[in-house]
Amino acid sequence: MPSLNDIRSTFLSYFERNGHQIVDSSPLVPRNDPTLMFTNSGMVQFKNLFTGIETRDYSRATTSQKCVRAGGKHNDLDNVGYTARHHTFFEMLGNFSFGDYFKQQAIPYAWELLTKDFGIPKDKLLVTVYHTDDEAADIWKKVAGLSDDRIIRIKTSDNFWQMGPTGPCGPCTEIFFDHGDHIWGGPPGSAEEDGDRFIEIWNLVFMQNEQFEDGSMRALDMQSIDTGMGLERIGALLQGKHDNYDTDLMRSLIEASAHATSSEPDGPGKVHHRVIADHLRSTSFLIADGVMPSNEGRGYVLRRIMRRAMRHAHMLGAQDPVMYRLVPALAQQMGAAYPELNRAQALIEETLRSEETRFRQTLDRGLRLLDDELGKLPDGANLPGEAAFKLYDTYGFPLDLTQDALREKGRAVDTDGFDSAMAEQKAKARAAWAGSGETKDAAIWYDLAEKHGATEFLGYDTEEAEGQI
Ligand code: ATP
Ligand code: MG
Ligand code: MG
Ligand code: MG
Repeated sequence: MPSLNDIRSTFLSYFERNGHQIVDSSPLVPRNDPTLMFTNSGMVQFKNLFTGIETRDYSRATTSQKCVRAGGKHNDLDNVGYTARHHTFFEMLGNFSFGDYFKQQAIPYAWELLTKDFGIPKDKLLVTVYHTDDEAADIWKKVAGLSDDRIIRIKTSDNFWQMGPTGPCGPCTEIFFDHGDHIWGGPPGSAEEDGDRFIEIWNLVFMQNEQFEDGSMRALDMQSIDTGMGLERIGALLQGKHDNYDTDLMRSLIEASAHATSSEPDGPGKVHHRVIADHLRSTSFLIADGVMPSNEGRGYVLRRIMRRAMRHAHMLGAQDPVMYRLVPALAQQMGAAYPELNRAQALIEETLRSEETRFRQTLDRGLRLLDDELGKLPDGANLPGEAAFKLYDTYGFPLDLTQDALREKGRAVDTDGFDSAMAEQKAKARAAWAGSGETKDAAIWYDLAEKHGATEFLGYDTEEAEGQI
């Protein structure tokens, strides 16, 4: 059975054999790209090659790219622990053509790798195309011999790929694997598509447009290819598993978590172990790429992920910090492919340890307060915003941590109430500052800083809420 490390190598050498340059993963913090919080796909480091601003000495590349999807347009934080296929951190395998080959060749490459090199049975595969893309549908028919009902036309943004609100984009074709009718879910485009039966493994994007901030779009001068396949998803499939968390790599982290908390990997704490294994990867890789926990921007997203994981460790009955003890297991699994993990190991461990030590001082009391508040509420009622705000302000519970804790109990937070409690506190702080006799300049600076922080954060959430394509 191939390990995830083997599968990564098979992918890269297949495309290397076909004239692609193997390029290293870029860091999780995109260089010179303020539009994006974290690298969320393989094309990010090649953005300027698609638009033609930059050229390199190769026109075909292949990568295994570190990705984090925990905010912005692509946010999978709330899926972790609930679906078989989502992580906050994952590796995206990709092949790229910069004005070199296009659809006619990208589809046969993908089909050959999946069905010959990986040996996946053809009758388990089906594909989607953008509803107007007859050309792609024809190529699939010819190359793979798929019947019409296995080439599904999709009208939505699912088949028009965009990295974020701006940048290169285009219609795409996606390849799905049918894990069988013992699992709930329907084919793409159906009402049950959110289930985990038909799992999307590979997305081939036909880069031919560029989206601008004002909503307009232009046709790019060159036609290019950008593809992305989740290593953990193809890995699950090739290891005869349905669930990403049952692959060798994820499994070893789950076992490390079980060992560190003296609990069973598949017992009642199963979901906690999955969340911990996932969050261990995203937090460790973010720290290795220079992000440190803080109260705003990227650092706050990191802190939110860490604290969520720490609550899950606490739910498993951990009496002491846990996360830092799992770092060696991760380095052992992934340090060879990503040496930055080894280089930063001591920093990662120390950061996790001090964050968890600090957070544990208020975590217990916060959870008790949460239980008390819930006890006072009528059945099924939402947690009042002021209570969630108190947890945030006094106990250091990010809002999404409280939401995560409530979701297990089938409850939610009154987020409007939370927002107004937050706004009220800010107004008070501002009034206190203005009345403190500071110079006018200082007050203006404070206002700007405040606004800047708020805008950054709002921008982030708004994007998510709008779910723009
Ligand atoms: P899904 O619909 O399952 O959420 P997606 O359409 O958002 O996936 P793409 O943006 O097309 O995913 O990314 C390309 C590939 O990366 C996907 O086909 C999948 O194999 C993988 N992938 C995407 N998101 C995740 C994730 N959160 N965890 C693991 N793999 C992922
Ligand atoms: Mg998704
Ligand atoms: Mg999808
Ligand atoms: Mg997709």
